[in-house]
Amino acid sequence: MVYWNEEIETMPREELEGLQLRLLREKVAEMYGKSRFFHDRMEAAGLTPEDIDSFEAFRKVPFMTKSDLRDNYPDGLFVVPYDDIVRIHVSSGTTGKPTVVGYTRGDMDNWTEALARGMTSFGMTNKDVLQNSHGYGLFTGGLGVHYGAERIGATTLPTGTGNTSRQIQLMQDLPVTTIAGTPSYMFHIADTCDHMGIDIRRDTKLRYAIAGGEPWSESMRAKLQERTGIRVHNCYGASEFYGPMFLECHEQNGLHIWADLCYMEILDENGEPCADGQRGEVVVTMLKKEAFPLIRYRIGDISSLDWSPCPCGRTHPRLMRLSGRTDDKLVVRGVNVFPSQIESVIGEMPFLSPFYHITLSNDNYMDRMVVEVELNEDSLSEDTVEHGRMTNLLSSRLKDVLNIKADVRLVLPGTLERFEGKAKHVTDNRKYD
Ligand SMILES: [Zn+2]
Repeated sequence: MVYWNEEIETMPREELEGLQLRLLREKVAEMYGKSRFFHDRMEAAGLTPEDIDSFEAFRKVPFMTKSDLRDNYPDGLFVVPYDDIVRIHVSSGTTGKPTVVGYTRGDMDNWTEALARGMTSFGMTNKDVLQNSHGYGLFTGGLGVHYGAERIGATTLPTGTGNTSRQIQLMQDLPVTTIAGTPSYMFHIADTCDHMGIDIRRDTKLRYAIAGGEPWSESMRAKLQERTGIRVHNCYGASEFYGPMFLECHEQNGLHIWADLCYMEILDENGEPCADGQRGEVVVTMLKKEAFPLIRYRIGDISSLDWSPCPCGRTHPRLMRLSGRTDDKLVVRGVNVFPSQIESVIGEMPFLSPFYHITLSNDNYMDRMVVEVELNEDSLSEDTVEHGRMTNLLSSRLKDVLNIKADVRLVLPGTLERFEGKAKHVTDNRKYD
């Protein structure tokens, strides 16, 4: 099968944009009636739903931001009762407050549809066997990809993260054709196969990979493909949208953004729309989201959108490689980390000073995070047992909050560099090529 939903996927651009405008107007009217938050925002901007009669008028609608999500924690932005919510996912947010996302049955259906289209677009069918090494649980990667693969009738092997030698054993024993996970985990699998003397081309049936959840580059793709013989397809999403949602087709040249589900704007510093192919801030409106709608949400990514026809025949625009962030979010081993989360943990511990520094590095694309914190003058101790106890306390609390391990170093007061003005808390030495 070439398309999952040919009528929608090949709809001419003018028709697609007409559909988008209609859905936008319906969503604005619905939210105006249902959401106190949105109603107040529209009123403050002097707008009523009747004013939104064009894309240009829609640009007057105020943005939603991460701090709106935080201020309305946990479920203040839900617009349906819990009776209608069938799933909740939770992801890390800024300053320690996670983002809670609810899904109705309709939301699950649209999320799954988006992935089914994307998987079909690079060649997956019901004959494929997908090994899903994304984390299952509150993170959206595992269950999202899982449902998408089941929708197209593929066989799904829910291995989840970790236990790499067992994962490799399974991909040899079962006819696994496709693997989903973070790009760095795929490098780890390739390394482990080398150590075990396993040749992915000879010893497995793997031919596709779905890679996402962290920043990566074209040169990483080239290396991974050359090492493994697998065609690696980029995947993009965020828990605020639904989860992982957009994939590259077999052309491997940008992520098809399903325009009937998502209205994506790329804006310059003045909030004006960027031309096709010009980089700017990604702003997302979800056209069919029910439980937790997003209208003009500043996701924080920087990229460009390309509406030029894709050789695959799909008419939906393509989002190009992300080239940065508008905020201080870090993605470490596929997990969102905000320095403010680390700062609030440090603030909980009376023996620590507020001076800290985060250093990121990667060896063979495997991320490592070192957190250095200065001790308080009062807590200086020659006692190595006491020092170890403090280190462990910080380390385990960070693990709880961030969901990944950091190497913790407690250092003497006055050791870390001081900055005039805004402190620089992060040194990112990771390389992606
Ligand atoms: Zn395409």
